[in-house]
Amino acid sequence: SLTAGIVGLPNVGKSTLFNAITKAGVEAANYPFATIDPNVGVVEVPDVRLQKLTELVKPKKTVPTTFEFTDIAGIVKGASQGEGLGNKFLANIRQVDAICHVVRCFEDENITHVSGKVKPLDDIEVINLELILADLESVDKRYTRVSKIARTKDKDALEELAVLERIKETLEDGKSARSLEFTPEEEPIVKNLFLLTIKPVLYVANVAEDEVGDAENEMVQQVREFAASEGSEVVTVSARIEEEVAELDEEEKTEFLNELGIEESGLDQLIQKAYSLLGLGTYFTAGEQEVRAWTFRLGMKAPQAAGIIHTDFEKGFIRAETVSYDELLKAGSMVAAKEAGRVRLEGKDYIVQDGDVMLFRFNV
Ligand code: GDP
Repeated sequence: SLTAGIVGLPNVGKSTLFNAITKAGVEAANYPFATIDPNVGVVEVPDVRLQKLTELVKPKKTVPTTFEFTDIAGIVKGASQGEGLGNKFLANIRQVDAICHVVRCFEDENITHVSGKVKPLDDIEVINLELILADLESVDKRYTRVSKIARTKDKDALEELAVLERIKETLEDGKSARSLEFTPEEEPIVKNLFLLTIKPVLYVANVAEDEVGDAENEMVQQVREFAASEGSEVVTVSARIEEEVAELDEEEKTEFLNELGIEESGLDQLIQKAYSLLGLGTYFTAGEQEVRAWTFRLGMKAPQAAGIIHTDFEKGFIRAETVSYDELLKAGSMVAAKEAGRVRLEGKDYIVQDGDVMLFRFNV
């Protein structure tokens, strides 16, 4: 399954945030297939639609879908030179599908900052630079190989060379490859390079406890501006608060968040943003036994999406009785939705939409 890796300089709040994730995380007993790796935290994906569907269908059981975060260990600075645990850091990043980059945006004289002062943009640069240098090495290697082939005027090689040149220039400029746009023809070339700076990033601005719910401080604004420049997103959290929130039950949590003047916990926002960053969506199955949320990749067709539940569903796929969450809620019940003609019979070319409520028909 897809995972988002948590990275950041020392003392920015990574461990605090990861603790919050594991505390809030699912019980391993309920998810026997969940990875039992101390560096992986499995959380439920918060989704109000699942609650509403539960109220509507009144099933015996409700099962949310889950999402994985990986705590990325290793020393950052000098990583691209292979110093210390640096290689491990890069190797770990290579394995994740998206990056949650924690940035310290709180002042606290008791907590030393590695470079002596809290400067979020410098921090971001330290990490991004290591990734950029590692990518430059990959691109250079490939460049040398492909330019030999290109001498023979090979069309594909020339095309690849042009892409490599563009990436190289961007990296040499100190910018990440994700700030570039590629045509559908260029994408396979780029994918083949397995670049680190092409991975989607969510910057996690870690603010002081007493700033949660307040107007954003200048440091957060700087992070936002930088993120926008490379097309990345930002979420604001206070890791310390999240650690406390993670220990509360649902009711206490709502009360606590109300007191802070916020609607949704930072961690819940982080989960949702990381989820959509990875191009994931949720469809539902809603029967009397169980109402359940399922994660699929946006763009998947109905049989593939059915295969997430069981491979037999994909192999023997006939059709999917489908109603959108909104239509179902408007109708008030599955029966009413059917009577109103809102339940569609979708075939094997149907592209599943986020929020679809589906019943798969299949041959065994
Ligand atoms: P890591 O090195 O990035 O894993 O950072 P830690 O999670 O160990 O945090 C470093 C220090 O910053 C610890 O003393 C944390 O308690 C503190 N810290 C983390 N988040 C916050 C926060 O939101 N507010 C304040 N004031 N301190 C925090």
